[in-house]
Amino acid sequence: MAARVLRRAGARRAFSAEPAPAYASERINAATAPTLMEIGCRDIFDEDHDAFRQMCRDFFANEVKPFHKEWEKAGEVPRELWTKAGDLGLLACMVPEAYGGLGTDCRFPAVVWEEQSYSGCTGPGFAMHSDIVAPYITNYGTEEQKQRILPKLVSGEWIGALGMTEPSAGSDFANIKTTAVKDGDDYVINGSKVFITNGWMADVTIVCAKTDASKGAHGVSLFLIEDGMKGFTKGNKLEKMGMKAQDTCELFFEDLRVPKSALLGEEGKGFYAVMSELPQERLLIADMGVSAAEAVFEWTRDYTMDRSAFKGKLSNLQVVGHKLAEMKTDICVGRAFVDNCIALHSQRKLDSVQASMAKYWCTDLQCKIADAGVQLHGGWGYMWEYDVCKAFVDGRVQPIYGGANEIMKELISRSITNPRH
Ligand SMILES: Cc1cc2nc3c(=O)[nH]c(=O)nc-3n(C[C@H](O)[C@H](O)[C@H](O)COP(=O)(O)OP(=O)(O)OC[C@H]3O[C@@H](n4cnc5c(N)ncnc54)[C@H](O)[C@@H]3O)c2cc1C
Repeated sequence: MAARVLRRAGARRAFSAEPAPAYASERINAATAPTLMEIGCRDIFDEDHDAFRQMCRDFFANEVKPFHKEWEKAGEVPRELWTKAGDLGLLACMVPEAYGGLGTDCRFPAVVWEEQSYSGCTGPGFAMHSDIVAPYITNYGTEEQKQRILPKLVSGEWIGALGMTEPSAGSDFANIKTTAVKDGDDYVINGSKVFITNGWMADVTIVCAKTDASKGAHGVSLFLIEDGMKGFTKGNKLEKMGMKAQDTCELFFEDLRVPKSALLGEEGKGFYAVMSELPQERLLIADMGVSAAEAVFEWTRDYTMDRSAFKGKLSNLQVVGHKLAEMKTDICVGRAFVDNCIALHSQRKLDSVQASMAKYWCTDLQCKIADAGVQLHGGWGYMWEYDVCKAFVDGRVQPIYGGANEIMKELISRSITNPRH
């Protein structure tokens, strides 16, 4: 609703898709703010982002947090949550106005990623839907595909997923086995996908399949597979270590016949599309990683300042104080790098190497901070009722998906030892 209010107030110019200017302002650094989650700091944002952030914070506090435990048991979040988020303009903010979106740069979606992480509620798969799936359709879809699908993703009427990984091929993407064989004007798809975020609830899934198996990664094409198509089935929701309210499942394609109009982008160009979209995926994982660490730090600071021990508070023990100092310093170093990446990406200047650096370093940081947070909460940190406990298990997947951190290091090292690569 607030997004609508902002729209009506003519604030749309602030959401311009034009490259954002270089940032310089009087805004304070989060490191010197009362908390790392303070609204109104960080140079990359302005007052419009602050208003949007407040709305997101209220949304996660009122519409998500009170129900999240229930959704953890269900293994999914209700559809109505998606349409509520859509009503507020929280979904697919970067989709151009012509297709119902706000046409913003990546700073508005970054506010949504961060606020979700601050809430400690990993259930809604908004980032996958809004900032991984929707950009593929925006950037590679035909006019018909964009007009038909994007407005539904923006409103939350449809949920989107991306199917790359297979039981026998994750990091080694070139080795996927799913095929799409041309038959007249149609393609016939056979194969399967695993670990698909939003897969169970998705109305549309972008599926990577080989249209030319002899060409490895260069024979990959993308297809828009809609729920209910004959030959397309979903497995059960997978039981995960964490992120229990987020639906993740297997997908199966058995002689699934799709028309040519289901092809997303050019035949055989799927790998290039995936490579082009990965920096944004890695940036959002990095930003969510630092944000989750910021939240853990604040919960831990509060807990240790409140917890009585040895005739004082835990936080008064020098070892604990030093640990908090290390945690905050590490987070602020990560935040500075990620904010720089967000600024670069909002000006369309973020390259794959820097996105990989951010993804690997910040997700390792997230796990380290979550571990320290659990330790300083003592036994309570091991209890599910504590956010820090969930943050520990929820964060563990971050160094694995979106390209395992070892793969990130591989990409970074290639740019060092073979700069022209
Ligand atoms: C909760 C969750 C959600 C996911 N969501 C999606 C989704 O929506 N869509 C999707 O397509 N996929 C998704 N994935 C899959 C994810 O991207 C893959 O799990 C990931 O890419 C790793 O692939 P893999 O599991 O096959 O591991 P493997 O490729 O078998 O690798 C196993 C481990 O080996 C190491 N390793 C692998 N390659 C190298 C190398 N070259 N050098 C050094 N070490 C290496 C790494 O430590 C890696 O973690 C999700 C996974 C999870 C757990």
